[in-house]
Amino acid sequence: MTTRSETQTTLDHLLTEIEHRNPAQPEFHQAAHEVLETLAPVVAARPEYAEPGLIERLVEPERQVIFRVPWQDDQGRVRVNRGFRVEFNSALGPYKGGLRFHPSVNLGVIKFLGFEQIFKNALTGLGIGGGKGGSDFDPHGRSDAEVMRFCQSFMTELYRHIGEHTDVPAGDIGVGGREIGYLFGQYRRITNRWESGVLTGKGQGWGGSLIRPEATGYGNVLFAAAMLRERGEDLEGQTAVVSGSGNVAIYTIEKLTALGANAVTCSDSSGYVVDEKGIDLDLLKQIKEVERGRVDAYAERRGASARFVPGGRVWEVPADLALPSATQNELDENDAATLIRNGVKAVSEGANMPTTPEAVHLLQQAGVAFGPGKAANAGGVAVSALEMAQNHARTSWTAARVEEELADIMTSIHTTCHETAERYDAPGDYVTGANIAGFERVADAMLAQGVI
Ligand code: GLU
Repeated sequence: MTTRSETQTTLDHLLTEIEHRNPAQPEFHQAAHEVLETLAPVVAARPEYAEPGLIERLVEPERQVIFRVPWQDDQGRVRVNRGFRVEFNSALGPYKGGLRFHPSVNLGVIKFLGFEQIFKNALTGLGIGGGKGGSDFDPHGRSDAEVMRFCQSFMTELYRHIGEHTDVPAGDIGVGGREIGYLFGQYRRITNRWESGVLTGKGQGWGGSLIRPEATGYGNVLFAAAMLRERGEDLEGQTAVVSGSGNVAIYTIEKLTALGANAVTCSDSSGYVVDEKGIDLDLLKQIKEVERGRVDAYAERRGASARFVPGGRVWEVPADLALPSATQNELDENDAATLIRNGVKAVSEGANMPTTPEAVHLLQQAGVAFGPGKAANAGGVAVSALEMAQNHARTSWTAARVEEELADIMTSIHTTCHETAERYDAPGDYVTGANIAGFERVADAMLAQGVI
């Protein structure tokens, strides 16, 4: 039998090879490192996983599509963006994962997101593979008409790669209900099919699931609550810092407040708002979802309890809980040290890979409960899979039913991660638990399905 350290050496060689074969993709390297550095115990214990080629196949997407997205702005000028869809792994079901529209998008970013999505989707226990896509299009400051023309052009290429049994995109940063509507309309027009299960995050009344908009944020709060319960605590009376002000942040704040915690911050790229009385969600939703404005407007309109800190990071506000809900690598080593100094008990990732590897290690060493995104934020994609189930059955469930299923899924993900970590001598280490449990499910399916 190979030892853990021999196995780790093999995995380290593979990581070096990944870096060579995928130059200039730092985010993908980071995501691959983060998973592969926790797999040695399971690969050493179960010889079938050491089969040559298994992990090599896992880190190579099944298919990667890059395409031109030409569109006309309101002045009639032709703009050209780049579109991506990375279909990473379909051993467990159709590729599933969101679309991100943000100027920072490139192939490496989409690959990191797609790679994480494989394990996240496996952890939900549902039949969905992993994929991700998007564009370097920046929706900020664009009119509705421009966003519509962009989405139509994007779908005019994407439609040939997706389908309810093939690949099912959804939203991510920069892609919400409005964009999904325009994308779905164009798909329907080109294919002449009512195929509601081809996209998730659709609007109520034309195939969308109740609770899908809330699911990522709600799920993350449920995961944080489960981690606290392990330590004999609950959310009641805890102060929480939340970063971001998009869909994930808004519904994180909503659930925290409903469960008795005080969520005191939100942010965007201009800075953050701290509100001692707790974030007023009606005001935040009005500014972000209706007016599509910036968070400084919140502080201006809220009155004395709130202030806007330009350029700052929410992590400097003392809190019991931290829920990074904006974007990758937004919480670094210095931020982790500040949180620890201020007595943080748990950090739970609403965004994908928001915490740098150095920060994760620091938090874990300090005994802070750390919920990695692929477990903690899996509620969004889980409810997407429930939306697909409703679409296939041509039915729609009540909000109460969807919320109950979401709560069951989050509890089961927490239990799986917790027990898996214990089984592999890493008690309390949710990163190891999530990576190994997700890996086992995908790897078993890949082995059973042969070398493809
Ligand atoms: N973009 C979300 C995620 O990171 C949701 C994906 C989906 O619903 O397909 O998991």
